[in-house]
Amino acid sequence: MSLRISFKGLGLVEKSREKEYDVVIVGGGPAGVAAAIYSARYMLKTLIVTKEKGGQLNKIGYIENYPGIRRIMGPEFIDKLYEHLEYYKVPVVIDEVVDVKRKGDEMFDVLTSLGERFTSKTVILALGVVKRKLGVPGEEEFLGRGVSYCAPCDAPLFRDKVVAVIGGGDSAASAALLLTEYARKVYIVHRRDKLRAQPFYIRQLKENPKVEFILNSNVAEISGTKTVEWIKIRETGKKIPVNGVFIEIGADPPRKFFEKIGVEVDEKGYVKVRRDQSTNIPGIFAAGDCTNAAGAFKQIVVAAAQGAIAADSAYRFIVEKFN
Ligand code: NAP
Repeated sequence: MSLRISFKGLGLVEKSREKEYDVVIVGGGPAGVAAAIYSARYMLKTLIVTKEKGGQLNKIGYIENYPGIRRIMGPEFIDKLYEHLEYYKVPVVIDEVVDVKRKGDEMFDVLTSLGERFTSKTVILALGVVKRKLGVPGEEEFLGRGVSYCAPCDAPLFRDKVVAVIGGGDSAASAALLLTEYARKVYIVHRRDKLRAQPFYIRQLKENPKVEFILNSNVAEISGTKTVEWIKIRETGKKIPVNGVFIEIGADPPRKFFEKIGVEVDEKGYVKVRRDQSTNIPGIFAAGDCTNAAGAFKQIVVAAAQGAIAADSAYRFIVEKFN
């Protein structure tokens, strides 16, 4: 039986669902899915609870650096991850985890926004990060009318149009490259004199005649009538006519949630983990982009590896504590 049914909106939850697990994984991106595969192979009773399958993968274009896969779109990669997971029959609940509390000395209660409660011997936090907003006039107003945070979702809407990508990291570079396949012109507006994206991306962007860099520049305003028509550059006051604006200025971990459940975070809000992906709370592990494990090196392959390590550590923890 599939447990992927969302009862959101009906105010109902599936009463028959199993409530006790060895491992509850919070988050269904590459870290969470890798953790689930390894956990299931250890024959641990495993559950994923996630707001959406794939997490950030939903919002990224081509992935070209995951070993064994030459080139794949983010959403297509999600299908592959979940196809693999299905083989191990790990249930996936689409819901938001709102709290993780100790239950007695040995167990945790994982509570969801729809009022479900799952009890588990261990918890793996693999929540990923949340995209940043630019915070300029017009950003909210034109959301879905030219403003986007998701190039793979919206790039096809801008065929033969002019778009601007804001940001200078790998996400901005990858979004811009995807957009060149549809738009007739792609501006990259970045606040510094050079991008911090990987050299391979920068070379491709420089070689692409559709790309124009607007450096040392910040966007002050996004405006138009029904849809986006222009952006205004703060430094020059210049209005640049565009049909779309893709905001790719990084992402932040869900710090408030981590502080609420009591896991220790670093100064930026990433969960502090040890080499075995354990946190300050025995029995709670963390993996992927939401942790401080690989510093700023946020890569799918790294997240997946951390998920595998977290599952291995959860297994060892359970063997030691419960057997
Ligand atoms: P990022 O690396 O943090 O870059 C964010 C960019 O946005 C930076 O260039 C930053 O400028 C700029 N920025 C931040 N706040 C801004 C603001 N308020 N106004 C204007 N510009 C602003 O974030 P990301 O590109 O989303 O990447 C996140 C992580 O995912 C990184 O570790 C990245 O390597 C990884 N990633 C990897 C791939 C890949 O390997 N193919 C693809 C996508 C993402 P400054 O340069 O001035 O700080």
